[in-house]
Amino acid sequence: MAHVKLHIPGPVEVSPETFAAFCRPMIGHRGQGFKDLYGKMQPQLQALLGTQQLVYLSTSSAWGVMEAAIRNLVQKKVLNCMCGAFSDKWFDVSKRCGKAAEALQVPWGSPVLAEEVDRRLATGAFDVLTLIHNETSCGVMNPLESIAALKRKYPDVLFVVDTVSSLSAVPMDMDRLGIDVLLAGVQKALALPPGLAVFACSAAALARSAQAGDRGYYFDFIEFQKNAEQNMTPSTPSVSHVYALSAKLDGIQEEGLEARYSRHQLTNQMLRDWASRSGFTLFPEAGYESRTLVCVNNGAKPGGRVIDVAKFQKLVKDRGILIDGGYGKIKGTTFRVSNMGDETPATIEALIGVLDDSLKGL
Ligand SMILES: *Cc1c(COP(=O)(O)O)cnc(C)c1O
Repeated sequence: MAHVKLHIPGPVEVSPETFAAFCRPMIGHRGQGFKDLYGKMQPQLQALLGTQQLVYLSTSSAWGVMEAAIRNLVQKKVLNCMCGAFSDKWFDVSKRCGKAAEALQVPWGSPVLAEEVDRRLATGAFDVLTLIHNETSCGVMNPLESIAALKRKYPDVLFVVDTVSSLSAVPMDMDRLGIDVLLAGVQKALALPPGLAVFACSAAALARSAQAGDRGYYFDFIEFQKNAEQNMTPSTPSVSHVYALSAKLDGIQEEGLEARYSRHQLTNQMLRDWASRSGFTLFPEAGYESRTLVCVNNGAKPGGRVIDVAKFQKLVKDRGILIDGGYGKIKGTTFRVSNMGDETPATIEALIGVLDDSLKGL
């Protein structure tokens, strides 16, 4: 069957180079070969996350670590910042873990603002805050810097930040921002096959975790730390993913982080320009648009062109590309196109050609 190229916001297209690395022969995860592989990646991962803490490898999707953060860290109450499908679900997950949780909900398309976070944290009720940096479901990039600045005012609240669809596409500075847990799945901004997550914990997060008597085993942060000190993982990791991640990190180093960030800014701007030149508006509030995808307004909000998204999506797919027809409650009234991962101005140019052709066919 002919491959349909992924321009959905995750999983994204995986390059032949990444697949070649993924398919290297198996090694044992307690042997020197694995330790050398992980050890080589460690400083590259630390540069990517902006941390001196050890970066851990979790054989799970992002949700494993998102749930783990709740189980390891929440003793009093968690404040879940909610602005879209993934961040809304984190609140639900907190409750399913049996924790006291409060929702800071803003309408989809709006950002979570520091003023409101400040107002809630001022109650003194919370010991953990969760935030999704780039809310992939509606294309909103939250103002991480200003929210993280609150950490100085509330040092005892642990800040947990999901960067699934932004890590490696925009600068990340975990230690400087005072983030306590920074996590990402690898199938979005990092363009690997799904099935692995990377994360790091501050010393404060590890200290809090050590006090949690019911943190389990598979996602025990203390186990991750102890094993990472030996360049190992607590249980058998997906070694294939680790190979692929290593190859990806080499590629990122070769390209240069700044060049990678600029490339994402440029390709994202190309998609924004395409949307506006085609008569559409963007769904997110101005100034808070994602840099790794466009979430195009198609009637969810007043203004701009409205098309038959399902038909458009099919015409695009007939030309060999998959775009997303909108997530959850904004399915059809928005649609999303991703520029994450390995996309270049040339591949986005080709994508835009297909989008234009498909619009003509409507
Ligand atoms: C996709 C996504 C997730 C969930 O990832 P899974 O791989 O399904 O666990 C979480 N957060 C964000 C921002 C995402 O885009």
